[in-house]
Amino acid sequence: MTCIFCKIIAGEIPCNKVWENESVLAFRDISPASPDHILVIPKTHYENLNQADNIVLGNLLSAVKTITKELNLLSSGYRTVINTGNDGGQTVAHLHLHILAGRVHHWPPG
Ligand code: AMP
Repeated sequence: MTCIFCKIIAGEIPCNKVWENESVLAFRDISPASPDHILVIPKTHYENLNQADNIVLGNLLSAVKTITKELNLLSSGYRTVINTGNDGGQTVAHLHLHILAGRVHHWPPG
């Protein structure tokens, strides 16, 4: 197994876990771009958004709703990001959704 996020799911690499259920794991990004920077990943390996089935994508977004509510991020707002491929800035080839919060996020991003 070479995927770093699969190793986190397997417990081979530690993470700062925020939330999980049977199909999704959420943990804090090791190099935060915002005061709250959480990665939400499916426990099954998919390289990117386009490879994942729609149920998995729905589970990720459902997890975002729960996590942002539990962490009280909704009142100030937050940003969600899914980077895909080289031009999208994806550096880990395991589908993941970023939750960014705790500061103002301008648009468009760089
Ligand atoms: P992306 O650039 O969209 O592929 O995002 C990958 C993210 O994974 C980056 O923000 C990294 O800081 C983060 N990351 C890489 N390795 C780890 C790790 N072991 N624990 C937590 N976050 C990580």
